[in-house]
Amino acid sequence: MLHTSYIELNKDALNNNIQFLKKRIGSHARYSMVVKANAYGHGIEELLPLVEDCGVDHYAVFSVAEAMRAWEIKKDFCELMIMGFIDDDYLEWAIEKDVSFFVFTPERLRKVIEVSKKTKKPARIHIELETGMYRTGFCEDQLEEVSVLLKKHASNLVLEGICSHMAGAESIVNYRRMLEQIDAFNKLCSWFHAEGFQPRYRHLACSAGVLNYPDSVMDMARVGIASYGFWPSEEMKMMHLKEVGFDENPLQRVLSWKSVIMSVNNVPKGKYVSYGKSFMTNRKSKIATVPVGYGYGFSRTLSNNGHVLVDGKRVRVIGSVNMNMAVLDVTDVENVKVGDSVVLIGEQGDESISVESFSDMNNSMNYELLTRLPHHIPRREAP
Ligand SMILES: *Cc1c(COP(=O)(O)O)cnc(C)c1O
Repeated sequence: MLHTSYIELNKDALNNNIQFLKKRIGSHARYSMVVKANAYGHGIEELLPLVEDCGVDHYAVFSVAEAMRAWEIKKDFCELMIMGFIDDDYLEWAIEKDVSFFVFTPERLRKVIEVSKKTKKPARIHIELETGMYRTGFCEDQLEEVSVLLKKHASNLVLEGICSHMAGAESIVNYRRMLEQIDAFNKLCSWFHAEGFQPRYRHLACSAGVLNYPDSVMDMARVGIASYGFWPSEEMKMMHLKEVGFDENPLQRVLSWKSVIMSVNNVPKGKYVSYGKSFMTNRKSKIATVPVGYGYGFSRTLSNNGHVLVDGKRVRVIGSVNMNMAVLDVTDVENVKVGDSVVLIGEQGDESISVESFSDMNNSMNYELLTRLPHHIPRREAP
């Protein structure tokens, strides 16, 4: 083991999630798997080959750098879409490589036309529409201009899609806002239709859209977090399980995170453990050190707070989490020795540490914890 911890990806879980979500989406719509932020921490290079085996052939990323990584590893028949930032200097790369991308300003649209003329290849664009999130997207009063440009430069542009993004579909408090967005999007789709455009895909839904708002799934869904086996929110999980039964969770976690014990020591009663005075032994204790700390994505807020699994038992993180190490109280685990497996996220025996429990505890969401898992931790398919 060269590194201090590793991440395992479970292909069966991935396949289970994708098949469940594909059923929700329906066979008429394309499944675009969102692999931004290093595939939600799972690792673009390691995840894509597994995803392809599960029958996915469309990926969405945020940036050109991610697109380049996905490009290197993806199979030829898989399509790539950039939803976010592209520097002008890289438009040519995207067009050359047949990578489609979101366009959300008139300036960008003009630039794309210029570059595609130079490249002598049409650009595959998704016109992003403002429907109520107020982040990126063309407002209604800019659409006339868009229409004129699309028509005038039809040979340089392929209207791959018209799209928008939902501003909080994972939370029921946003219910009316979501209905209004779907409605606004439908109206704009009709407008494009009336103008004579036939985009290949109309797309709005993210994971929570797929799970909560079937009407938001048009010709394509951009599915991120649920593909990886996480509910977009606890609330959505409850809403779903309430319908299907609490033992029927259809989503399975794909990722596990593991390390090993690097030292075991005995500590007398009444001693402070690790930096400072945040933890004092209240009994004769046995402590074990694990080589993961906040520098490895194991948050400092797990100090005196987190749990991990050793020998199939839940043990506490005691004292402060350091940059490279955390200390565990293994007093109640027999025969702990250096080299024993430690599960930071995942299962061991009958016990399980979920990302949810992990992230509840440190007050961040699944999304954030996952994407903070450092790139340098090796990822591999679970045996
Ligand atoms: C991240 C993202 C998604 C996927 O969202 P999930 O909640 O992870 O499914 C879809 N569309 C856009 C534009 C995004 O940025």
